[in-house]
Amino acid sequence: MSAVAVGALVLPSAPPRVWATVAICAILPDLDAIGRPFGRGDVEWLGGHRALTHSLTASLVLSLAATAWLRRGAGAAAPFARLWIGLFLACCTHGILDAFTQYGSGIAYFAPWSWTRYRAPWLVLSGLWSDFAIFVVAGVVARIVIMRRGWRVPWALVPGRRSRVS
Ligand SMILES: [Zn+2]
Repeated sequence: MSAVAVGALVLPSAPPRVWATVAICAILPDLDAIGRPFGRGDVEWLGGHRALTHSLTASLVLSLAATAWLRRGAGAAAPFARLWIGLFLACCTHGILDAFTQYGSGIAYFAPWSWTRYRAPWLVLSGLWSDFAIFVVAGVVARIVIMRRGWRVPWALVPGRRSRVS
């Protein structure tokens, strides 16, 4: 869901494989809860749910790996820094938005160096549908503001091309 908001801001005209990678990066942090549907609980060696996989370190590692993978297919023309920033933000949005949920015990943003968990002061996200609605609305509003203002999105992720927003 966070990929919708990030995508509207960061990927105004990216090819489908970049969108798919952003969506995957935004979802992957929840791999730490992959055992839940099978009655096996959270992956404890990752620190439990919303710990290591939701940390800034995991976002850094995952976004670098995804950027390298995307650039390999796009050739040398792909802007590494722009691609990496967009993917890093996509990864980070998951943990940031999870901090606004009414359930859970917070996010360990600085794992594995610190396992202290943090929550937002406003726990405004409650259920799947309200989360989805908030993110879609936020993404659409951000996109409309960017288009109306004529802002150039400096980190637009279009390998080998420039952003249509200029
Ligand atoms: Zn999560």
